[in-house]
Amino acid sequence: MNLVYLDYAATTPVAAEVADIMAQHLTLEGNFANPASRSHRFGWQAEEAVESSRITVAKLIGANNREIVWTSGATESNNLAIKGVLEGFESGHIITSEIEHKAILDTCAYQETKGFEVTYLKPDEQGLITAEQVSEALRADTRLVSLMLINNELGNVTDIKSIAKVLTKHDALLHCDAAQGTGKLAIDVADLGVDLMSICAHKMYGPKGIGALYVRKSPDIKVFQQIHGGGHERGMRSGTLATHQIVGFAKAAELIIERLDSEIAHNLHLRERLWQGLEPLNVLRNSHPTQCSPNHLNVSFTGVDGEILLASLAQLAVSSGSACNSASIAPSYVLTALGVSDALAHAGIRFSVGRYTTEDDVDFAIEEVSRVLAALR
Ligand SMILES: *Cc1c(COP(=O)(O)O)cnc(C)c1O
Repeated sequence: MNLVYLDYAATTPVAAEVADIMAQHLTLEGNFANPASRSHRFGWQAEEAVESSRITVAKLIGANNREIVWTSGATESNNLAIKGVLEGFESGHIITSEIEHKAILDTCAYQETKGFEVTYLKPDEQGLITAEQVSEALRADTRLVSLMLINNELGNVTDIKSIAKVLTKHDALLHCDAAQGTGKLAIDVADLGVDLMSICAHKMYGPKGIGALYVRKSPDIKVFQQIHGGGHERGMRSGTLATHQIVGFAKAAELIIERLDSEIAHNLHLRERLWQGLEPLNVLRNSHPTQCSPNHLNVSFTGVDGEILLASLAQLAVSSGSACNSASIAPSYVLTALGVSDALAHAGIRFSVGRYTTEDDVDFAIEEVSRVLAALR
C-alpha cells in the first residue's frame, strides 16, 4: 500500500547526515563523554562538540553562541521563556494570541493562576495578528509579549519585526515561538528585534528532544531557571547536556544554512502544485495566500464530515488541527479563532510538504483526495 507522508509540520524525519553524526557521539569509540567533565580529554572533546554546535545553531538564527540555551525542545523553551521571565515580577500583564501553540497557551493559563493577567489577541479573518493589535493591548505593566513566527496549523507568518517596533519604547520583552520557522524562512533575531526565541530540531530534520532558547545578551535579559541542579547553561537550565542530540541539531542547522533557498523553492513548488490540484475540489483555503510558510497548506473541504474524511484518507499522513490536539475531537481552536464555522473547522486538513516530498507524492495526494471526496459527497 502506498503511504505518503505530508505531515512535516508535525515532525520531520532525521536527515541521514544528522543520524550519522549522532551515532558518532554515543558509543565508547565515539565522543560519548559528559561535556561537563573537566578532568579528562573525553570530557573536553564532548564539550568542544557542544560548543561548536552552539555556534552553528546560533548562526542559523543570527544570534551569538552565548545567547543559546539548550533545552529539550520548543515546549520547554516556551516554558522557560515565559515562566523564567515572569518569575522576576510579582504581577503584571502578558500579551499573546488565541492561535498560539498549547505550549504557550497552557503556560500563560498557568501564569494566570499566579496572578498575571493575559490578553489573548484574536487574529483577523485572514489569520494574522497585527502590530496595531499589540499596540492597543499594551499596558504600562505589560511584562511580556509572546507571539509565534509561523503558526503550526495554518503556516501563517506573523510580522514580528513590526511588533518589535511597537515595543521599542516599552519595557515589555518580546518572545517568539519559532519552532515552525527554521528552515522555512531566513531568521535573524537582531533584524526581527526579539528578546527571546524558541526553536527545536525535530521540525527541521534533526532529532526530537532537543531545542534551544535564544536569550538576548545586550541588554542582558534575566531568565530564572526552571530546572535546578548544577547550574548548567549559565544557570538557566541544569542537566547533563545531550551531546548526540546537540550535534544532531547543529548538523541539521548546517544543512539548512547551506540550502535554505533551494529548500524554500522546493517546498513552494510542491505546495503550489498541491493547491492547484485541490483548488477545483470545492475547498476553502484557511492558510493565508501569501503571508505563509512555503510548506503549509491548510484547507477545509465543504460538504463532508471532517472526521470521516480524515479517516478515509488512510494512505495520506496529514493532520486535522495540530498533532498535539489529535487526541481531541473538538474542532481546531485555531480555525475557530479565525471565524471558520464549526463544521468547516472540523473538515480542516493540514497538508505540509518537506525535503523528501516528491511531485509523485503530491499527485498521489490529489488523486486520493479527489477519489475520497467523490465517494463521500
Ligand atoms: C512543534 C511546536 C512546538 C513544540 O515543540 P517541541 O520541540 O515538540 O516541544 C511549539 N510551538 C510550535 C509552534 C510548534 O510547532
